[in-house]
Amino acid sequence: MNDFTCYRTEDLGSILVLLYSEKQSSVIYFVDPWKIGILDCFLFEGDLDNIRQEMNMPDLKFTQIDLTMAKYFIAMGKRISKRVGTPLNSMANKWNAKLEIDNVEISGSIYKCFSCETGELDTQEDAKIIGIAKRELKRKVAGTIKEKQYYYICKDCKDKLHKTHTV
Ligand SMILES: [Zn+2]
Repeated sequence: MNDFTCYRTEDLGSILVLLYSEKQSSVIYFVDPWKIGILDCFLFEGDLDNIRQEMNMPDLKFTQIDLTMAKYFIAMGKRISKRVGTPLNSMANKWNAKLEIDNVEISGSIYKCFSCETGELDTQEDAKIIGIAKRELKRKVAGTIKEKQYYYICKDCKDKLHKTHTV
C-alpha cells in the first residue's frame, strides 16, 4: 500500500479517489457521498493528465491526500452503498478487502455534511436522503438528469453561514 500516492478530485459532491502508482495500475474509486455511495471502482494505467483526457474533463483538479483520508472516503461510500443497496462491482469488493475498508470506523449519520464533509447531519435529514437514494436507485434515476438535487449541512456549518450573513 506504500506504493500509492493518493489523490481526490477537489470539487465537492461526487469525487474520484485515486490510489496512484507508477509501478502498477492505479486504483480509482468513483464515490458519491451525497446519494448512493460507491458508483464505480476500476484500474487505470497512466497519470493524472491521462485521467483528465479519459474523462474528457481537462480542468479536473486533484488534491493530494493521505491514505487514511482516501480510505475514509471509500469507507463512507461503502457505508452508504450498504445502507441504500447500491451494488458494488467485483473490483470494489476486491479493493475494499485489500485496503481493509471494514476496519475504518465511521459512526453517526450515514451521510456527512455536504460542506465540510465530516460534520454530522441531523437524523431526520439523514433519513430523508436515505429514502430518496433508495427510491432513485430502484427507479434507476440516481446520477441522471431526473435525480433530485439537495444540499444538507451540519450544525457548525449552519452556524458559520448564519454568522457571515449577519455580519
Ligand atoms: Zn459541516
